Amino acid sequence: MKVNEYEKKEYRNIWTISEILGGEVLPVSFELLGIARELAAKRACEVWTVVLGSGLGGAAESLISYGADRVILVEDPRLGAFNDELECHILERLTAKYRPEIMLGAATNRGRALIPRLAGKIEAGLTADCTALAIDPETGELLQTRPAFGGNIMATIRSVEYRPQMATVRPKVMRAPVPDLNRTGEIIREETVPEDAAGIKEILRVVERKESSVNLSEAQIIVAGGRAMGGPAGFQLLEDFAKRIGGAVGASRAAVDNGWIGYPHQVGQTGATVQADVYIACGISGQIQHLIGMQSCKTIIAIDVDDTTPMMKLADIAVKGDLFEIIPSVINELDERVRA
Ligand SMILES: Cc1cc2nc3c(=O)[nH]c(=O)nc-3n(C[C@H](O)[C@H](O)[C@H](O)COP(=O)(O)OP(=O)(O)OC[C@H]3O[C@@H](n4cnc5c(N)ncnc54)[C@H](O)[C@@H]3O)c2cc1C
Repeated sequence: MKVNEYEKKEYRNIWTISEILGGEVLPVSFELLGIARELAAKRACEVWTVVLGSGLGGAAESLISYGADRVILVEDPRLGAFNDELECHILERLTAKYRPEIMLGAATNRGRALIPRLAGKIEAGLTADCTALAIDPETGELLQTRPAFGGNIMATIRSVEYRPQMATVRPKVMRAPVPDLNRTGEIIREETVPEDAAGIKEILRVVERKESSVNLSEAQIIVAGGRAMGGPAGFQLLEDFAKRIGGAVGASRAAVDNGWIGYPHQVGQTGATVQADVYIACGISGQIQHLIGMQSCKTIIAIDVDDTTPMMKLADIAVKGDLFEIIPSVINELDERVRA
């Protein structure tokens, strides 16, 4: 939230959001603690980490050995499967209670779904995918460096008027410290209170899906479908088209979330980043989270019934019309050329 100089003083310490999978702390959590410790040494403050999950076992002790002074544990069966809305609510409450000056998260799929949601909720500035972090010891201002303008420059960003200051770091960018098994720290147990879970989706079961081995980041031609595809049959049409032009099939998150196609096909902020020669967007409106993953493709072709969408505006070639008429007629045309 926006704060004045007096209110800023109420925000203290550096937090990291740790990630757990199958009871194991993911290495990126230790990498975050490594950089947090470096910053905390300069600011003369503590490093806290938050762990949300179920069956957390010795996670807290392990995080302390890697540099956490305090570990906030929220252990709840409802947190066994990743539920971004629920985790966001819990973190929102904890942030209001403890007021961290800085929050660092991982730029993993999970982090990319959770951390921007939290930043939006608490009205904090967020710099994603930082490659370097430094701190002004006097003011506590976090100097967040990341590539900008397609990687042509490195920008150092400060969040002067907002607290907490939030940043994400990709796995393997920071170095994990050597663990010290003699380190001691405090474990603070917090609960999922009823208000956290009120009106929030519940994960009933997690279905393991056998995913295809598509490698979108290597594809030179991508035919991507969105919500307009309407179901798996729509994506079969795109497969038929892609096969004829030597392309791979991509998808928007709306299509993936609907279960019409597997997650490896998702393009965007929480999916793959692609740089194909040709990207054909079929019934994808082009929300920023999708554009982030494909806007550097060389030639963008969009098919949409609505020519005012961001994707149609961005496209080099914008085709206004019903994709269920256009794509079959292109397939027919290609087949006729092959026969001729
Ligand atoms: C934290 C976060 C992360 C996200 N990450 C991603 C991500 O990685 N990737 C991603 O894609 N999204 C992501 N999203 C979701 C994103 O905001 C959009 O909701 C999503 O991209 C919309 O998908 P869409 O364009 O397929 O659907 P819509 O926005 O519903 O667009 C469907 C389009 O199809 C057109 N259409 C309908 N019928 C036809 C037809 N017959 N022929 C032609 N056109 C037709 C419509 O005019 C419309 O433009 C994320 C959101 C959040 C909050």
